[in-house]
Amino acid sequence: MLEMSHIKKRFDDLEVLTDISLTVDEGNVLGIIGPSGSGKSTLLRCAVMLEKVDSGEITYLGEKAVWDGQNGRAVYAPKKKLREISRNYGLVFQNFHLFPHYSVLKNVMDAPVHVLGQSKEEAAQSAMELLKKMGLEEKAGAYPYQLSGGQQQRVSIARALAMNPKVLFFDEPTSALDPELTGEILSVIRSLAAEKMTMVIVTHEMSFARDVADHIIFMDGGVIVEQGAPEQVINSPKNQRTMDFLSRFQ
Ligand code: ATP
Ligand code: MG
Repeated sequence: MLEMSHIKKRFDDLEVLTDISLTVDEGNVLGIIGPSGSGKSTLLRCAVMLEKVDSGEITYLGEKAVWDGQNGRAVYAPKKKLREISRNYGLVFQNFHLFPHYSVLKNVMDAPVHVLGQSKEEAAQSAMELLKKMGLEEKAGAYPYQLSGGQQQRVSIARALAMNPKVLFFDEPTSALDPELTGEILSVIRSLAAEKMTMVIVTHEMSFARDVADHIIFMDGGVIVEQGAPEQVINSPKNQRTMDFLSRFQ
């Protein structure tokens, strides 16, 4: 579904991603954990092409979005191709990123109408179905400021799902939420995993990561320090850096 190989990214003198390779198979969930500043968000931003890599390859469903040119620098596919490839994925941010001046319904149906060219009726109907699935049917006419953080995050998940992505990326989807609202988002993500949605999830919720992920990557300092089955990485890490990181969550 998604392959990233030998990804390198620097911001001026700071090497943020050193040589990252990963694969996500259809229907699988990849969990990414690691300390602050380890490059997790940068990796997601590179995967969804909000940020350019310096070198390496990114492939979605066998279609190359980025590859190494002859000088070793990353070459991106032409814009039209990138637009097509970007239809394959959606991103849910930490801080929801809803349009404040749009109603909940409009937030969810906006991209299907303007990007996918769906009719308003069709988009509104699917948006209502998604809002129902998120338990937010009665909030369709509300504005983001009238919702709790957990509700806003569920709207942003509905908005991402409205584009029918094949892979959904989450960057710390609960870290802006009070602990009592975290559970509702985690259970939404759990139900997506049960439906075999392919997902890449950066999270600080270790027990959630262990339950929901098929594979866990522990990043530190822009490299993958350790990876493997969730039970193995989280319950019996082999690397000292992973142990030190996980000990903070006990
Ligand atoms: P957190 O858990 O705090 O969200 P993270 O693992 O997501 O951390 P990143 O946000 O990817 O970390 O940042 C990795 C490093 O890259 C940090 O040192 C950060 O300061 C730096 N960095 C990120 N974005 C930029 C940017 N646009 N310009 C310069 N440096 C950046
Ligand atoms: Mg981050």
